[in-house]
Amino acid sequence: MKVRHLNCSTIHPPCARLYDPGGQIFRRADLVCHCLLLETGDGPVLVDTGLGMRYIEHREALGKGVFFFLKAPLDPEETAVRQIIRLGYKAEDVRHIVMTHLDLDHAGGLPDFPRARVHLLAPEHDAAMNPTKRERQRYVADMWAHGADWVTHAVGGEDWFGFKDVQEILPDVFLVPLIGHTRGHCGVAVKTGETWLLHCGDAYTDRSEVRPDGKRETPLGPRLYRRRIPVDYERNMTRQRELRRLAREHGDVVTFFCASDPHEFRLLSEGG
Ligand SMILES: [Zn+2]
Repeated sequence: MKVRHLNCSTIHPPCARLYDPGGQIFRRADLVCHCLLLETGDGPVLVDTGLGMRYIEHREALGKGVFFFLKAPLDPEETAVRQIIRLGYKAEDVRHIVMTHLDLDHAGGLPDFPRARVHLLAPEHDAAMNPTKRERQRYVADMWAHGADWVTHAVGGEDWFGFKDVQEILPDVFLVPLIGHTRGHCGVAVKTGETWLLHCGDAYTDRSEVRPDGKRETPLGPRLYRRRIPVDYERNMTRQRELRRLAREHGDVVTFFCASDPHEFRLLSEGG
């Protein structure tokens, strides 16, 4: 299969300095919604969806203050649906979408693909359908109000490079539970010949968090984020330790990346 790296909406939270020591205080940052398009023999498959057309046309549907904070989505050409159409497909050709989790900056493209089956871990579906008061800020029910065709996968499966409960849900596409950021957060591993790609969702948000040598030079923004956002901070930190080990022990076979780091996106999209 051919794998394409897509940024499905640049997001611009306030104060670039928080994310990059060289950034300016009064400028907004430029982070990405790093998604994958898998061009399989059975049609295109999306991994995460970024923010879609609906929220360009109806900013208010994103929820109070979200657009103001993210200043996204702004550019219709960045939406997954427009990028897929430019590649010669129709939106209806996307029959499967695999979600790392349902936070709004990952699920906001779902309304553009109403016919797709949407795969995710069962505890993530539970969390989004029955959110706690704290979780209500992150899940936007409008994103599945069109009647998303959910395919929930119970946690369970085989070992994979030291990760537990890994299961193949589509040919060469695997769910890798990375629970901590949300109740059912997972990575999505894609087998590409002899090597693998692992989309880590928001298990980390800045590459410095998972450097194999464990050195910490993480900017303040991602440090605040990992303290405040995960539903389970300790489990999320365990996931980051596991990813550091993965980089050390299997970095030659597995390439992993997160959803928001623009440097990782640039490296992978230019290399692919
Ligand atoms: Zn998230």
